[in-house]
Amino acid sequence: MLEIVTMTLGPVSTNTYLVADPESRQAVVIDPAWDGKAIAEKAAQRGWQITGIWITHAHFDHMAGAAGLFQILGSAAPVALHPADLALYQKQGGAALFGMRIEPGPEPGLQLFHGQTLTIGLYPFEVRHAPGHTQGHVIFCSKTESVAFCGDVIFRGSIGRTDLPGGNFDVLIESIRTQILTLPDDTTLYSGHGSETKVGFERTYNPFL
Ligand SMILES: [Zn+2]
Ligand SMILES: [Zn+2]
Repeated sequence: MLEIVTMTLGPVSTNTYLVADPESRQAVVIDPAWDGKAIAEKAAQRGWQITGIWITHAHFDHMAGAAGLFQILGSAAPVALHPADLALYQKQGGAALFGMRIEPGPEPGLQLFHGQTLTIGLYPFEVRHAPGHTQGHVIFCSKTESVAFCGDVIFRGSIGRTDLPGGNFDVLIESIRTQILTLPDDTTLYSGHGSETKVGFERTYNPFL
């Protein structure tokens, strides 16, 4: 079974997920929110080797730890990003809009696309493009493990904001319908902020849907 460690980091309490295959000890970081060194140490404590940095979307609070991770891991853990969020990533995730400054992340080494399969050890993950919060937002789904990492697309009882550059409410709702609600009800959703939820719960109770 996959092991998932949640770290809530940074000025807007963003969830960073360390996701590992305990047998091969390979791990990826999904959304290095802040403090790359602390994330690397957490993986090292468990004997996990970080082989990739997967970014759901390039807002600063989901990538600010990438520079620190790169200093420790170098190109052994390439940043994976959808090209539609590359410009945002290269502007430090819009940090200036929030009066923040972050260290620029390394150049992404892997371009994500809809329908792509990524792996953590022996576990395959499907990449689904889910724009609306940002244009290049993706989610990472494991059908065998019934989990999806969905960034700021959907939260327990809420949805991502659409008032930032590149946001679009109708596009976001369409993404949720086609990319989230098409997953089985017992799929656990790990969001970029707040607690985890299930597809079935959101289908029934999310007031935006
Ligand atoms: Zn965001
Ligand atoms: Zn966020």
